[in-house]
Amino acid sequence: MSKEIIIIGAGPMGLATAYYALKKGYKVKVFEARDKIGGMTETFDFSGINIEKYYHFVCGPDTPLFNLMKELDIYDKLKWTDTKMGFFYNGTLYKWGDPISLLKFPHASFIDKLRYGISVFLGSKMRDYTKLDNTTSIEWLKKWQGVKNYNKFWDPLFELKFYELKDKISASWLMTRVRRVAKSRKNIFQERMGYIAGSSDTVTLALYNKIIELGGEVHFNSKVTEVIIENSLTKGVKVGDSEYKSDTVISTIPIQYVTLITPNLPVKDIDRLKDLDNVGVVCLIVKLTDEITENFWLNINDSRVDVPGMISISNLNTELEDKVVYLPFYLHINNEKYHEPDINFYNKFLDYAKIINPEFNESWVKDYRVFKYEYAQPVATTGFLSKLPTIRSDDRKGFLIADTAYYYPEDRSITESINLGKKLVEMI
Ligand SMILES: Cc1cc2nc3c(=O)[nH]c(=O)nc-3n(C[C@H](O)[C@H](O)[C@H](O)COP(=O)(O)OP(=O)(O)OC[C@H]3O[C@@H](n4cnc5c(N)ncnc54)[C@H](O)[C@@H]3O)c2cc1C
Repeated sequence: MSKEIIIIGAGPMGLATAYYALKKGYKVKVFEARDKIGGMTETFDFSGINIEKYYHFVCGPDTPLFNLMKELDIYDKLKWTDTKMGFFYNGTLYKWGDPISLLKFPHASFIDKLRYGISVFLGSKMRDYTKLDNTTSIEWLKKWQGVKNYNKFWDPLFELKFYELKDKISASWLMTRVRRVAKSRKNIFQERMGYIAGSSDTVTLALYNKIIELGGEVHFNSKVTEVIIENSLTKGVKVGDSEYKSDTVISTIPIQYVTLITPNLPVKDIDRLKDLDNVGVVCLIVKLTDEITENFWLNINDSRVDVPGMISISNLNTELEDKVVYLPFYLHINNEKYHEPDINFYNKFLDYAKIINPEFNESWVKDYRVFKYEYAQPVATTGFLSKLPTIRSDDRKGFLIADTAYYYPEDRSITESINLGKKLVEMI
């Protein structure tokens, strides 16, 4: 009889793990706390549009995602758009993201612009990003781009995403992010970003259907409340009052939750987890009659605006009937702002939209929602991989732990969750 494994979480990683495990002949049970698949890619009905709660786009190098889409026969749902990027700097909107825009930008010297351009270009071509593992992003940026460039282009992004942790972020993590976006281009003058027609659901639902077809089970509203480990051996999980036995349990939920549900987690894992951090997000999504700018991605450095960017998804997915923008507020769950009521974030949006485009007024707004994810962005500090509890451990045989932090130095993404899902199956 084939071995049964239990997977915790039905986000992209949990679903991919289940799919690859079934293909290898394992029996699979997935437990998902919510009533839907998707995790961070979860969608909702935005008065008629099925769309992600959090902005999602695809980049040219997202190969594991593309391979999976081919396997699931949904590759034709991958669409590409020539996108525009902007930079809102102290009250003025500039074009951004190509050499000409950089050269035309009036608030940096020619030498500084050259340093910026060359370091991004060469940085995106590095072969081995782990070499930067012990350098902080700030050190690296100040060294190669200079202090003025750092303050102008980068500091607000770090400040508004990582706050007091900004000095600790690893340069490996930053540069793999830069590379992923830099490699998503038609040519050096034109950025080209992808999206999945029908939202990320197209992928996660295809995965879900395949899991069911292959005989797997996905249980919704089934929050795992305990991972049972006895004498360093995994015995199964508890979901409320029910107990499910298995000697192999794979957790794909944010690791910060793992300590809460694993009373016998080895001390060395607990010690490592104490030192790790993860920033939450409060994400506002607004449906509009008109675009605020022509850009898909707008970087912001303006003291009146406390978000690092505004993402106009309808400038990427031009099939959307309405204009839709996301405004992400990255806030640690210990920050009291994270817990503020939705209306506060909406009011901030009204102010910011007016600052960015003085023609904007509230009559453009057709609908809005606010969503919160407690652990949305691992804080990838220097030497990060060695700080994480290992995926496998002899002190908890059969309990594999992974989440979006584990594909460091890559940043969180659907493609990396899929990639890691496949690797987890090989590690069983
Ligand atoms: C604001 C934002 C923007 C993003 N933008 C992009 C983008 O543009 N492109 C891109 O590729 N990626 C993007 N991502 C990242 C991408 O969404 C994630 O990398 C990916 O969804 C992670 O999937 P996962 O399955 O690893 O984890 P998660 O999505 O976190 O899934 C974990 C699942 O576990 C469930 N769970 C938690 N606790 C329990 C429990 N005790 N029992 C059972 N189930 C539990 C949760 O409900 C959830 O469904 C973005 C993420 C955010 C937050």
